[in-house]
Amino acid sequence: MIRAIFPGSFDPIHNGHIDIACRAARLVDELIVGVYDQPLKEFIFSPEERLQLVQEALKNTPNIIVVGYSGLTVEYCRQNNIQAIVRGLRVFSDFEFEFRMALANHRLAPNVEVIALITSEAHTFLSSSTVREIASLHGDVSSMVPDFVAKVLYQRFDELAARKSITPLMINRD
Ligand code: ADP
Repeated sequence: MIRAIFPGSFDPIHNGHIDIACRAARLVDELIVGVYDQPLKEFIFSPEERLQLVQEALKNTPNIIVVGYSGLTVEYCRQNNIQAIVRGLRVFSDFEFEFRMALANHRLAPNVEVIALITSEAHTFLSSSTVREIASLHGDVSSMVPDFVAKVLYQRFDELAARKSITPLMINRD
């Protein structure tokens, strides 16, 4: 049985993530989509909210399980008998980051392979930060995220605007 994990911050989940998750799920017996709480990034959604949105987005794919976790991904792999880490690749700049991370993970856990799937053409430009920025300016994100994600995004930015807080938009790479 091949079990893989697709880890990410999913702040929020968008169609590019969904595409990678569904394609990866066809390659393995069980795909765990791991929503991590990464302290180096600031998020607009809490870990519980991100988890809930990912669960809703992927609920129709039977061999996908959505979990939240913290700590090293390779450690989670070791503890849960996971053989591979799935990542999505968009542009060349993703490659350098993913390449370094894959090598580091391989050093820590030589038995865990990295499977990098190339984005589908339609999602090449799509990132959570782009979606956040467009939604924060009340732009149309309907072609980028499921409707229920768009709804909570607009709500969150309205709440933040009401509180007059400064929202973290483009400061984080994703
Ligand atoms: P992270 O903090 O790990 O980068 P993200 O939620 O931003 O978390 O991304 C999770 C994974 O999804 C990463 O491998 C990222 O490269 C991939 N990904 C993000 N956007 C896309 C996209 N449009 N197409 C394909 N893969 C993507």
